[in-house]
Amino acid sequence: MNKMTVKDLKDLKGKRVLVRCDFNVPMKDGAITDENRIIGALPTIKYLMEQGAKITLCSHMGKPHSIFSDEVKLNKKDKKKVDAGETTAEAIIEKAKKDEPKKLTLAPVAKRLNELLGGKVTFATDVVGKDAQEKVAACKEGECVLLENLRFHWEEEKKDLEFCKKLASYCDIYVNDAFGTAHRSHASTAAIVEYGLVKTAVCGFLIEKELTVMADSLEHPTHPFVAILGGAKVADKLNVISNLLEKCDTLIIGGGMAYTFLKAQGGKIGTSLVDDEKIDYCKEMIAKAKAQGKELLLPVDTVVSKEFPDPIDGPVTVKTVKSSEIPDDYMGLDIGEETRKIFAEKVKNAKTVIWNGPMGVFENPTLAKGTVAVAEALAAAKGATTIVGGGDSAAACTQLGFADKITHISTGGGASLELFEGKVLPGIACLNEKN
Ligand code: AMP
Repeated sequence: MNKMTVKDLKDLKGKRVLVRCDFNVPMKDGAITDENRIIGALPTIKYLMEQGAKITLCSHMGKPHSIFSDEVKLNKKDKKKVDAGETTAEAIIEKAKKDEPKKLTLAPVAKRLNELLGGKVTFATDVVGKDAQEKVAACKEGECVLLENLRFHWEEEKKDLEFCKKLASYCDIYVNDAFGTAHRSHASTAAIVEYGLVKTAVCGFLIEKELTVMADSLEHPTHPFVAILGGAKVADKLNVISNLLEKCDTLIIGGGMAYTFLKAQGGKIGTSLVDDEKIDYCKEMIAKAKAQGKELLLPVDTVVSKEFPDPIDGPVTVKTVKSSEIPDDYMGLDIGEETRKIFAEKVKNAKTVIWNGPMGVFENPTLAKGTVAVAEALAAAKGATTIVGGGDSAAACTQLGFADKITHISTGGGASLELFEGKVLPGIACLNEKN
């Protein structure tokens, strides 16, 4: 990791620091249901407070409309509805302005942060308006102001220069600690630095930790290195598969994406999820693995059903068949028992394991056994570095109570996948290099 971190900054006393956090926490009826992201941000915030910095915190929450901008922009989904005559732009905007300040406000996060940080946090009800400007100006050493949801401005995602200038006017130093959005190039995640508006730009402890564990494990893994990929579609993980094949010893593929591979090998996959356009790609990857002497493991048995459960967590009748012989009217929805054992055995003998994506339709308890088995295998792996790359697999590990048995559970699903792809994340690329 050659990027500067907050620890590399000297003399923070009295300095105005803008910290981009990822406070996009799950909420239900106005209450935070999982505060992991808030807890993850605390080490950086506490350090800056101890050093006597004046701290402005900012984050997005969900996918709101641009209700704080002069112009409210519609998203693609809205436009489709308007074009289909189902509703009008005015109705969408009116509803957004009524609902979103309550549903997608960061006020509950500010309240929780204030409890966790000894009453040192105030909340600004806007981002670049009067309230924010006054509260940032009044912020004392060792205290914080949390701005309202950045995405109430369309300018955030569009990297608007004037918006960036207003954010930059709050600070002498910029700290990015939002790993979950580090793969996005938005105003507060990268543009504010890319435009040259803040010269001192470093990462916080959370990003440092994510990078150190994940990037270092990918670049210098202890072998045997096993990578496990699952999830719905091959198309979403093309570059991940290709990049990981070059680095790991064994690539395990489960979940919906396995069936395109199984079909590419000439298997019968019934009505399972398949991406026919990617069959050639899968053949290429199978050949690449062979040429490089890598092991590419696919499920040998599969839990199948005649229908996809509806609702997704509703009752489902299943049986287990060979993965390459799925009957014409059945679809594969989870890895079978034999496969679970094979995958777990590989994890047991590994020294580095990374995992992204469920092994089946894990939302349904009957079809979650494969995903649970992989989570258990990672939790039980002794002496290995085990990394879970965010998203569904991270949620599964946390819900199963394995969080402290796994070396690292990433706070960013999309961002960690892009790291696995070998991409440089814009929110990290823009930061100052050490020395
Ligand atoms: P992703 O967002 O690509 O990680 O995919 C996660 C989704 O893949 C979850 O909602 C799972 O229900 C779904 N999934 C996993 N295995 C299958 C499968 N065999 N058939 C259909 N969907 C699946």
